[in-house]
This record gives sequence, structure tokens and C-alpha cells, in this order.
Amino acid sequence: MTSRKPLIAGNWKMHKTGPEAVESSRQLVKLTAAVDQVDVMIAPPFTALAQVAEVLRGTRIMLAAQNMHWETRGAFTGEISSEMLISAGCTHVILGHSERRQFFGETDQTVNLKLKAALAAGLRPVVCIGESESEREEGKTFSVLDKQVQNGLKGLLSDDLKELILAYEPVWAIGTGKTASSQQAQEVHAYLRGQLAETYGRAIADKVRILYGGSVKPSNVAELMAMDDVDGALVGGASLDPETFSKLVHYQN
Ligand code: PEP
Repeated sequence: MTSRKPLIAGNWKMHKTGPEAVESSRQLVKLTAAVDQVDVMIAPPFTALAQVAEVLRGTRIMLAAQNMHWETRGAFTGEISSEMLISAGCTHVILGHSERRQFFGETDQTVNLKLKAALAAGLRPVVCIGESESEREEGKTFSVLDKQVQNGLKGLLSDDLKELILAYEPVWAIGTGKTASSQQAQEVHAYLRGQLAETYGRAIADKVRILYGGSVKPSNVAELMAMDDVDGALVGGASLDPETFSKLVHYQN
């Protein structure tokens, strides 16, 4: 048994207008009000953050953004800073999601800059890593993850790790309906924790929550969550409907 509290996080991606996000988060507050053994987080689009923050005020659901820029302000048209996210009510920020890496030029280096900026501002980062299908087929899963962790987390101190949440999201399992088996997820999560232990010490590594992401749904969540090193889920598609997402949050029932 671990002392890590499970976390179920929903990434709404580019879905839901302000009013839709408010309605979904209101429903989610009701549906998850009785849960206290599991942490819950949602990441609505930027335009809905402040409104959703109002709905979540005084509840246990945490608010995350899906991305941020590393500078605090300046001539960066179209970008959003950590202090803007904090003023909108965010406590967390997702960084390095594979869609950002694939479509928007995110690299381990920019993830690293954002990660340091988030920590400096007091935002808790959820850093996403994961291998592509071809990388897995070529037997490169662990070397790809090593590189993403080493470069993405470069310069972090042990103390910073206390704020960090890691999300292992095999790219081939995101939005595809293909889920890593619970054994595949456990193998990678245990490996990642081992790597963190080598760099930062076992005690710290044992405290870092490592989420699994990739087609998590009500039918597979319990099996994944039963794995020793799977501390939660980062959920895309199945987070959009509050009833379905609430089933994930209630995976223990
Ligand atoms: C994600 O985008 O982080 C994700 C895991 O998506 P999905 O649950 O839809 O596979």
C-alpha cells in the first residue's frame, strides 16, 4: 500500500464553451460531493477557467489549465502566463501533453522552461510524457521516457518534486480506444519511479503521483488503479460527460 492519494483528472481539451463548462462542472460537483478518498481535478479550456473556478469555489475539485507560457508577461501574442492562470483560479497546469508536442512544437526544453516557471509561480505541474506507437514497437519506450524525464525535469530540486505530478500517456493510447494493459502501465510507472528514486532519492520518488492516461474509461479504470504504481488517471474523452467522469472518480465502488 502506498500513501499516495489517488487523483482522477479530466482534460477537456478544446471542448465546451463557458456556459457548457459551467454546467458540466456544476453537475460534477454534485456527482462527486461524497468522495473524499480520491482527489479530483478538471482542466477546462482557458476561456472557461474563471467561470469554472467560481463553481468549484469551496469544493474539493481542483482546477488546472492545459498549458501556459514560461514568461510572466510580455509581447507573446496568444499566450497565457502562470500569473494569469493563478488569477483565474488555477492551482495546477498540465504541461507537455502529447497534442502540444505533436501539433504545437512543444519540446522537452519548452516543457522544462514552463515547469520551472510554474513552480516558481506556485502552480503545481502535471507533466505528460509517453512514447509513440512506433517507438514502442522499436523497443524504445524506456529510452524515450528517460530522455523526456531527464530533459523535461532538468534542474529540478528534490523539493520541487513534492509539487510534481507525472502523467504517463502512451501516445498510441490517447483518444484511440487502445489502452495500455494494467501490466504495461505498471511496468512503466515502476520504471519511472525507479528513475526518480535514482535522481532524487527513494523517499521523494515514493511521494510523486504518477497518473496513467490513454483511453481510460469506466470499464478499465479499476484494473489500472489496482496497480501499485498507478496513482491516478488523466482522462480526455471520458472526462467530457460528468456522469461518465464521475464513474471514474467512484472507481472504488
Ligand atoms: C489525454 O488526452 O490526456 C487522454 C488520455 O485522452 P483520452 O482519455 O481520450 O485517451
